[in-house]
Amino acid sequence: MAEILIISGKGGTGKTSITGALAHLAQNKIICDLDVDAPDLHLLLQPQARQVEDFYSGNEAVINPELCTGCGLCWEKCRFEAIVADGETFRVEPMKCEGCKLCVSLCPAEAIEFPQRHCGTWQVSDTRMGPMVHAQLFPGQENSGRLVALLRQHARELAEENGYELILSDGPPGIGCPVISSMSGTDLAVVVTEPTPSGRHDLERVVELCRHFKVPAGVIINKCDLNQEQSKAIADYCGREGLELLAELPFDKAMVQAMVQGQVIGEYQQNGLAQDLARAWEKIIQMAERKKAA
Ligand code: SF4
Ligand code: SF4
Repeated sequence: MAEILIISGKGGTGKTSITGALAHLAQNKIICDLDVDAPDLHLLLQPQARQVEDFYSGNEAVINPELCTGCGLCWEKCRFEAIVADGETFRVEPMKCEGCKLCVSLCPAEAIEFPQRHCGTWQVSDTRMGPMVHAQLFPGQENSGRLVALLRQHARELAEENGYELILSDGPPGIGCPVISSMSGTDLAVVVTEPTPSGRHDLERVVELCRHFKVPAGVIINKCDLNQEQSKAIADYCGREGLELLAELPFDKAMVQAMVQGQVIGEYQQNGLAQDLARAWEKIIQMAERKKAA
């Protein structure tokens, strides 16, 4: 089984549309949306949930008003100002609670409980392109790296149990904890970039991360005709660094029209971008096979 991760180093490069297009081309796979903070692959694939689970991570303080005597010690000592005083009563503001447990230890009335924090949900769904594992972290929650690891683990289990040969993942943006969690142990990264100075800078940072994790990377330049000079600079960079340039995709409003209709480009049309992406997919498969044989 192979794991292929589509990343971009930043948002807004068209990564998710390209992931959808590649999912349409890939055979015998599980699709995984690892952008747990702001998932949007579901908008293209319209998944039907078959299993929904809660995601818990860390703990948070909760004051039991029946036991609280209103002494105010927790309010005084919480350095995160997570305890709010309403006259003589006290309550915890969940968004501010860092789960340090100090108040739980200090409360003379043992009135503060410390349950696990409900941070989001994850689910296994069916789509017209195959099974999909995805999640939604609640706003303000910070455990996206753990949720990414959990999604990958379930995708692997599902693949092993059902004989799927590929996990195709839409990765999180940036180069932080969730991307690191997405990348460690993956077989191949496809980096989607755009022809701007910031796009090139983000590409270089994400390629460094791939090297750190010894993950071979190929590059797709999206909307390459919007700035020929920057596109050439990126292509030259790929050549110098030994990165496979998988595709240089011109801007095509058909991509947007397909999205408006809830389709990926290969469902919307057979020529143009759809053909470019089919050729890119062939190269990706060859890279994955080379990695397997190495
Ligand atoms: S320390 Fe305990 S008893 Fe005192 S205000 Fe806080 S929760 Fe209530
Ligand atoms: S657990 Fe820590 S951060 Fe949360 S309310 Fe108690 S003292 Fe404040």
